[in-house]
Amino acid sequence: MLLRELTLVDRDGVRRGDLRVADGELVAVGDLDPRDDEVVADLAGKFALPGLVDAHVHFSLSGERTVDDVVDMTDAELALVEARNARKTLEAGVTGVRAMGARDIDVQLRDRVAAGDVPGPRAVANCRSITATGGHGHHLGREITGPNDARRAVREQAKLGAEFIKFMVTGGVTTPGTDPDEVALTDDELDALVDEAHRRGMHTSTHAHGAAGVTAAVQAGVDTVEHGTFLDEEAIEVMLAEDVTLVPTLSAPYHIVRNVDAATADVRRKTEHVYERHIESFRRAVEAGVRVAGGTDAGTPFNMHGANAAEIEFMSEYGMSPLEAIEAMTATAAEVVGLEGQGTLEAGTHADLLLCDADPTSDPTALNDPALVLKGGEVVGGSDRESRTAFERAGASGSATARAVRSGLD
Ligand SMILES: [Zn+2]
Repeated sequence: MLLRELTLVDRDGVRRGDLRVADGELVAVGDLDPRDDEVVADLAGKFALPGLVDAHVHFSLSGERTVDDVVDMTDAELALVEARNARKTLEAGVTGVRAMGARDIDVQLRDRVAAGDVPGPRAVANCRSITATGGHGHHLGREITGPNDARRAVREQAKLGAEFIKFMVTGGVTTPGTDPDEVALTDDELDALVDEAHRRGMHTSTHAHGAAGVTAAVQAGVDTVEHGTFLDEEAIEVMLAEDVTLVPTLSAPYHIVRNVDAATADVRRKTEHVYERHIESFRRAVEAGVRVAGGTDAGTPFNMHGANAAEIEFMSEYGMSPLEAIEAMTATAAEVVGLEGQGTLEAGTHADLLLCDADPTSDPTALNDPALVLKGGEVVGGSDRESRTAFERAGASGSATARAVRSGLD
């Protein structure tokens, strides 16, 4: 199938172009002429981006005020909730995610999505986040005390199918009794976590608010820093020196601040302190040249699955150009989390596309309500019914032709 007359938008910039889709992949990109009998979709006026890649989502959470409601769910309930959240994410134009884990459900979901059993984005997933005993996220995490226990915890996650390891180097906003500024894991524990993960070819990610925690985790060799709320000069310097990626998750405090009356008192108190500093921190990191991958922390209080594209708007508002923010939440995110064949409009990648009606490099909010979303060349979302119907009809006639050809050969 040939998608014609598009304006292509990816890390290489904005330009006119056509896309040829076959067997779920982009097989050619550029100024293309239709082949004999090729199904053609004329999409003049549409802007095409690679499907978004969200480097930080929680399918286990659904924007609840507190995680208490989730902790009591059975595995079966949680699996169904996760499947719903994955579908919403995909329909909104996110075709790749790093799923931050809960029990071992995200890895099962990843596999079922890959097998085509349930709709969802392609995923890199882990199991339980690793945290100090009583530390941030302990309700759904794996609590550790000591470096040997740290190694054991990493091995347990690997055994369950985790592809990366996430740990909590500081306290968090949503866990009562933990302090976002305090370093919660010892250097020995951090070294053990990172070493054990890297031995198994897994990358490591740390939840980190306070600067001392960021610095400690980076010195232990962590690969991505989530939030980076209170970065200071030293933390930014070590991140640059060690080539560490920041996943700023600006969506997380944004939604809490806007729903502050409904938040718990503990969350409210911590977020007031957090939000302005978080934006300032992000701005300084961008100015200093720290690599940024877009991630929303979707699922945290009032931060709903399917609103992921707003992170691009926030990143463009606070220091990046819209095109840089798009790159952060497509090519860079895919590269950093290890999703291959995604995040760019290049031949040989998955035909995972987000189409919108306005230029997202002048108005990033155009991404919030995509006209059409494709995954592997199939329509999986989008609010533009007309092009959706036209596309599905074209797709159906394409496969009917293929069937006719095959039955003729039999
Ligand atoms: Zn998170």
